[in-house]
Amino acid sequence: MRRPLALAAATAAALALTLAAPSSALADPAEGAATTSVESLSPAGSATAAAQALLASLPADWPARVAAAETAYGVTTTPWAALTSQQCGPTAMTDYANAQVASIGGGLMGPLSQLGVFAFPSMDAMLFGTESSSDLFGGSATTTRQLNQEVRDLRRFWDTPTQGVQLVPMHGSDVYSDPARLARVLVAMGMPQDQAAAFAAQLIGIVRSIPALEGGANPLFTLNAFSFTPPAGMPGVTPKIVVGDGLLEAFDAVGLGDLGPRAVLAHEFSHQVQEADGLTPAVVTPDASRVLELRADAFGTYFLTHARGASLNAKRLLPAEQTYFELGDCNELSLQHHGTPDQRLRAAAWGAATAADAQKQGLVLPSLELEDRFQAALPGILAG
Ligand SMILES: [Zn+2]
Repeated sequence: MRRPLALAAATAAALALTLAAPSSALADPAEGAATTSVESLSPAGSATAAAQALLASLPADWPARVAAAETAYGVTTTPWAALTSQQCGPTAMTDYANAQVASIGGGLMGPLSQLGVFAFPSMDAMLFGTESSSDLFGGSATTTRQLNQEVRDLRRFWDTPTQGVQLVPMHGSDVYSDPARLARVLVAMGMPQDQAAAFAAQLIGIVRSIPALEGGANPLFTLNAFSFTPPAGMPGVTPKIVVGDGLLEAFDAVGLGDLGPRAVLAHEFSHQVQEADGLTPAVVTPDASRVLELRADAFGTYFLTHARGASLNAKRLLPAEQTYFELGDCNELSLQHHGTPDQRLRAAAWGAATAADAQKQGLVLPSLELEDRFQAALPGILAG
């Protein structure tokens, strides 16, 4: 994804709204009683009723507030975040995501989504995640080794100040096994501490009561990867790349387990390079957003194929990237669309060709010089 929209002071203030009284419509006791009696025979029915009751105890604008926080932090603008939307696919990736949704059941998905349970692991990683030598990505020692090596290479490769960019995993089960950790996220969203503690405990109880949710380890909780640059006014929050276990599981399921994680990390890191180079405009229009994404594909592939970068074979990498662009092609009509798969492939191929030229001279181009060349090539990337 691109860097999140700058979290302006006004937006931060909006997120910090105090909780209001529950909506009378949602809290209608007759409605709650009817739902409970009908569905109380099955565990899923009980969980649905519990989720609905919890939702009814919150202000009516809670789902909107969760959505606003996701948008402000940029979580929803990644291609992966839309995999379960109606506008997406069908691809093997959307099939995978929809199978996870089906395993949970539509009746429960609605209130869970409105409560925000699928958003909180991302917010936890973004606001509080830190890099650690004990991190494990996707439960795989091999993937972990690859990503840790790659982020070291990325920091060394680019001429921008990216030493402080941390690589952070995202495990849904960490958040849904630790009430204090979940409550911390809720407090960051403006919920009072005592209410957050109670809400977190109830939410964890619901998540852990449904086997398909796997105690938070279901891939839907973490089916995402993003680059996060904290806006001014968030002291102590570091720039980071977050890679979710769910996305890595999905890559494995669709045959992209080898190169997919590496391509994602290189793409996301390119957003940090763009940020450091001042290439991210304060106001991101749809066209500007597309350029940010295509540049991330171009710069990412430049690194991945450069002899002094990851030194991957372009003939092997580009088909894998093509698959990954096609699998994640969602929301064509969205203002935040990343570019069509063809545009993205042309951007990646341009990155590989530019790396091949540069490395003949043993040269890693300064990122701003690479940018000049990218701008010259951009009309062709956009138009084909
Ligand atoms: Zn991106």
